[in-house]
Amino acid sequence: MSLQYPRHDSLAPEPRGVDLPPHKQVYANRNLRMESIAAIGFDMDHTLALYNHRVFEQLCFEMAIDLLVETKGYPESIRELSYDRSAVSRGLIIDKRLGNIIKMDANNYVSRVRHGDRLLSHDERRNAYKRGRIRQTAERYRVVDTLFDLPEGSLYTALISLKDTDTGVIKNSYKVLFEDIRSAIDTIHRDGSLKRKIMSDLPRFFVKDPELEETLIKFREAGKKLFLLTNSEPDYTGAVMTYILSNGVGSWTRYFDLIICTSGKPGFFLQMGKGRAVPPGSVEGLDNEKGQCYTGGDAFFLESKLGTIGDSILYFGDHTYGDILRSKKSVGWRTAMIVPEVEEEILSTHPVHESIRELEYIEDTIEDLTLERDHMLSVPEHDPEAVGVLRDYIRASLGRRALMKKRIAAAYNPIWGSIFREGRTSSRFGEQIKDVACIYTSRVSNLSHYPVQKFFVSARERMPHE
Ligand code: IMP
Ligand code: MG
Repeated sequence: MSLQYPRHDSLAPEPRGVDLPPHKQVYANRNLRMESIAAIGFDMDHTLALYNHRVFEQLCFEMAIDLLVETKGYPESIRELSYDRSAVSRGLIIDKRLGNIIKMDANNYVSRVRHGDRLLSHDERRNAYKRGRIRQTAERYRVVDTLFDLPEGSLYTALISLKDTDTGVIKNSYKVLFEDIRSAIDTIHRDGSLKRKIMSDLPRFFVKDPELEETLIKFREAGKKLFLLTNSEPDYTGAVMTYILSNGVGSWTRYFDLIICTSGKPGFFLQMGKGRAVPPGSVEGLDNEKGQCYTGGDAFFLESKLGTIGDSILYFGDHTYGDILRSKKSVGWRTAMIVPEVEEEILSTHPVHESIRELEYIEDTIEDLTLERDHMLSVPEHDPEAVGVLRDYIRASLGRRALMKKRIAAAYNPIWGSIFREGRTSSRFGEQIKDVACIYTSRVSNLSHYPVQKFFVSARERMPHE
């Protein structure tokens, strides 16, 4: 059954000239004229290569636990813990000192705080974060920035719960506990153990996108140079790209003018680095027939190889900081952020969008009615009956507001709510996307449904007085 989206509704995305459901559309924060783009680059993990996230994250979670037990002396009982994906989402912040996970809104106000499996009350929250905001130092805080970070957030939550409820089982401080988890996750990524497991069963870990190949072909036929820029190592890149782009005809590398592995982003955009050619035939799945495969390097190396610079380059990535913010702010590339969460969010919002509208209306009404009541009461000879009517109306509106809030909350993550919103403003994550991504969409292949030289026009922003 296909969903019908009321186009005239202010909450429904505006039509963009293609008949695509909203969760597949491309959204523009800034105007982007594809005609002026000479080269298009892609990150691999979570951008071109879509992980079967539940299976992948479960594996990271379990492998990290194994390391904690085997190398850091954590009790065997932690092997019983189960992975809870709803425990964290992108954009949240981990407070290593207090063992909390924090959601902030667009104004950097701390709006929700969870400690283990318990949400803090308003007073507890204000007590922990007295100014209502935090100053994000790397020493104390860590941002859940990529989809790779979800297992460590979930494991931290589970171990904090265990530490607080079963005293003595985990003696480490909240900070040490986090550092142990971080180091375990880092180790499984770096020592090859995680990737060996993935490479031994690629179909289990990746979802093939049937429209990806035609998207790349469409860009190439329009004369765009294509490049791959990934932090993954050459052997992993070769294996994964071969799997996701295998159609039995030639190597996937033919789609790309330049392939850079082990790129070391975000440093790639910030420091000078030496690019090294991958010797042809040395890596399985990375044939390098055209001599276009390298490791390392920097943005200037890449631009000189492609013969184009700055805002003629569009880069697709999923990592808010490492891919999008740095490529935009440090080298002036245009940016396309891949945000798979858009799909779920739009599908969740659709059934409650009438309630969201009603809630906005009720909140404005309550404000007005309360002002009117106070004004009436300030007149000594006021009519008590009229005040009574107003009070009843306010009471009914408050009841209706509570009902709408409950209905809306039920549509999203039960702990954190919407990933892009917090109350009437954007969440910190939503605001970051607005700030750093020229365009964003749930997957790269959504672009194939648009004219290849499309002029993506940003929605007109309105100030409250407009
Ligand atoms: P991307 O190129 O930015 O998508 O980065 C993907 C690469 O980063 C993959 O090879 C991951 O294994 C690796 N990676 C992700 N998280 C970590 C970590 O915590 N430590 C080391 N490598 C990581
Ligand atoms: Mg990535």
